[in-house]
Amino acid sequence: MNLVIEPVAPTTLPVAGGGSFPVQRVFCVGRNYAEHAVEMGHTGREPPFFFMKPADAVVPVAEGETGVIDYPALTANLHHEIELVVAIGTGGRDIRAADAPAHIYGYAIGLDMTRRDLQNEMKKQGRPWEIGKAFEQSAPVGPVVPKAKTGELLKGPITLEVNGVLKQNGDLADLIWTVNETIEQLSAGWTLRPGDLIFTGTPAGVGAVVRGDVMAGAVAGLGTLKVAVRREPVQI
Ligand code: MN
Repeated sequence: MNLVIEPVAPTTLPVAGGGSFPVQRVFCVGRNYAEHAVEMGHTGREPPFFFMKPADAVVPVAEGETGVIDYPALTANLHHEIELVVAIGTGGRDIRAADAPAHIYGYAIGLDMTRRDLQNEMKKQGRPWEIGKAFEQSAPVGPVVPKAKTGELLKGPITLEVNGVLKQNGDLADLIWTVNETIEQLSAGWTLRPGDLIFTGTPAGVGAVVRGDVMAGAVAGLGTLKVAVRREPVQI
């Protein structure tokens, strides 16, 4: 093949126990825990809806390391959203919920970092959310833990501390749409591919971080994801 420019290296995540998981696309579910839906001004069980981030928004964080992100441009209200991330190993379309587990390679802990002020402004204007959600470094993700090790993750705490203070505290059992239902709904609209990631939504308690803050997210069975917001602005 005669590539006329150098391709950007694919994004990969470390896999617990060895190897790398190549990231294809990043899908995200909006408002998938009831209490968070309420804090965002919504109620009830609306059908799931999806948005995306580019694969290169993913910041891989190796086991035992603290990831670092820059405080992004254009915002004064950068929010944390701790989420269970599903890593798709086998693609497919129109996958039934009952068949979904066979398509899951593993799970990871992720942060759906959000420029909330920009997202809210886009919502108000009925415009796309990309500027609020799909910016660079907006998706720190820890190692992928194979489902072969964890089994299906159906319940257990999902929490986030900022500087040691508990901010988000939920349980995977409280997902409005389960992982398997989410895969069913998502694969009705997109043909899933190996390497796709699905951010499954965040529990209540989202809030702002500032430069120098350290976030520590935990999901039962997956350990901890630590991410710091760089203290100094990047020198250009
Ligand atoms: Mn989210």
